[in-house]
Amino acid sequence: MKAPANRNQDLVVTTQNVQRAHHDEVMTPNYAPMEMIPERGEGALLWDTDGNEYLDFAAGIAVSALGHAHPALCKVLSDQANKFWHVSNLFTNKPAIELAQKLCRHTFAERVFFANSGAEANEAAFKLARRYAHDNYSAEKSEIIAFENGFHGRTFFTVSVGGQAKYSDGFGPKPGDITHLPFNDVEALKSQISDKTCAVVLEPVQGEGGVNPANATFLSEARELCNQHDALLIFDEVQTGVGRTGQLYTYQHFDVTPDILSSAKGLGGGFPIGAMLTTKRIADSLAVGTHGSTFGGNPIGCAVAGTLLDIVSAPEFLSAVESKGTDFVAALSKLNQKFDVFSEVRGLGLLIGCELQGPLKDRAGDVVQACAKHGVLILQAGSNVIRLAPPLILSQQQVEEGVQRLQRAIEGLLVEPQKDGRG
Ligand SMILES: *Cc1c(COP(=O)(O)O)cnc(C)c1O
Repeated sequence: MKAPANRNQDLVVTTQNVQRAHHDEVMTPNYAPMEMIPERGEGALLWDTDGNEYLDFAAGIAVSALGHAHPALCKVLSDQANKFWHVSNLFTNKPAIELAQKLCRHTFAERVFFANSGAEANEAAFKLARRYAHDNYSAEKSEIIAFENGFHGRTFFTVSVGGQAKYSDGFGPKPGDITHLPFNDVEALKSQISDKTCAVVLEPVQGEGGVNPANATFLSEARELCNQHDALLIFDEVQTGVGRTGQLYTYQHFDVTPDILSSAKGLGGGFPIGAMLTTKRIADSLAVGTHGSTFGGNPIGCAVAGTLLDIVSAPEFLSAVESKGTDFVAALSKLNQKFDVFSEVRGLGLLIGCELQGPLKDRAGDVVQACAKHGVLILQAGSNVIRLAPPLILSQQQVEEGVQRLQRAIEGLLVEPQKDGRG
């Protein structure tokens, strides 16, 4: 007997009754979402389908830079949606050109390639670095040096450049000539880099890998070593960019300029867009036909990102991010004086990590769940670091309220009987 075309007719879900359990019935099992189901957001606040309120310090994984439903972004999105949504790169794209002009005005960049995600921006960056070395030096100059615990996305090339083998193992042969070194280790870089190296890629603050800031010496030595060996220095600023750390891009905190920079996450404030920024000389290796994307430079995404960039690049906006970050770290350190559960509170601007110790050691997942129950959404970065990446527009008062909710969540975990096999 022929199987019916739709064998899941009994699995009809209406938007009124979506439950967490429905996720597992229709979605591939690579995600494990939280119990609460978001319904609506405004600024740094989010409400679930049961009407509970949350302070959203996860911000869609450091994406919702201006929070939820920002009026200026809603307006530009609907204005562009009423003109046209998509025409492809077969046409001159006004919103994309305007966004590229802004990115060039505010950074070292002279040329921009648009993609739809961080991984795609990095994919373009790595392909360009290989192609540039191939065009200008030799086919043998193909080594990419990356760092342990680095994260660059989930396409097969980018995940292989990323520094956690557990994410890239088990998918067959990997792209070759990628070397991983300990992060912030100048000597290791010195002894590995050679004229065969085409690029050194790093996150100025490792996000997924545990909120580990690069130190200034490491960055300037990396720049110097790249110069000596004609290798390109690539900064993956997918997480650290667009005001997240208190400068428009994190390299601007330092006396170091990369050759290629990737941006995504916060760039569209929740609308998918990625960008690769570089110089004219390097961009010349992306001749017509060498690379491309159907959706890259999507007019809605570019229009939204252009408005977002106008807001975020204002010096007052960036200095407010920096001072809210300082307040945040102070409030977290005060909390820690009471409970002694963090071995370190670190980060830059509004990208903050707390390394757990004592009874909370390796329990970042439990802290994230407990926080949600107490009305604050946070992230983890590995099993032993909780990560805060709130919307950049949150208020001083929301910083304090959020840390109070975090404190109640931690108090709850500390009085809870220890689970088997823990502590
Ligand atoms: C999130 C992230 C990526 C991947 O971005 P996607 O949009 O998920 O492809 C790459 N690099 C860094 C540093 C990131 O934080």
